Amino acid sequence: MSTRLRIGHGIDVHAFGVGDAIVLGGVRIPHHRGVVAHSDGDVVIHALCDALLGAAGLGDIGMHFPDSDPQWRGADSRVFLRHVRALLAERGYEVVNVDLTVLAEAPRLGPHRDAMRANLTADLGLASERVNVKATTTEQLGYLGRSEGIACHAVALIESAVER
Ligand code: MG
Repeated sequence: MSTRLRIGHGIDVHAFGVGDAIVLGGVRIPHHRGVVAHSDGDVVIHALCDALLGAAGLGDIGMHFPDSDPQWRGADSRVFLRHVRALLAERGYEVVNVDLTVLAEAPRLGPHRDAMRANLTADLGLASERVNVKATTTEQLGYLGRSEGIACHAVALIESAVER
């Protein structure tokens, strides 16, 4: 069966480390810890990139932006997201919608959700209702519940210009 729709899923996790802020969805959020990462450690954008690349059958973020490449040290992950969008566009794909779930005990994302959504919709060229950002704790269970790090799950639906 041919179809124009493709779905993809992505997960990213970063450990908390020394720092005074974390970056989520391109928004710098003050926190008593930072994250251990080669780039800016934006789990939201990393999970989203993996979901989009997965939907298009283009592998994963590590293949396109390897940790070993010094040009990505401290990189603004929004650059990754815009690059992924371009890769999809080159292949005739448009993003239909994305849904993101951040898992962490803290910080609280409510006050930052609109700013995160604004960044992501700008980078993807989407109307705001097509980008959903939500958050949950893990009820103090597991490594996320012990506040050892932060994770994000992403799902993306994309549509091809042609059936294939
Ligand atoms: Mg990552």
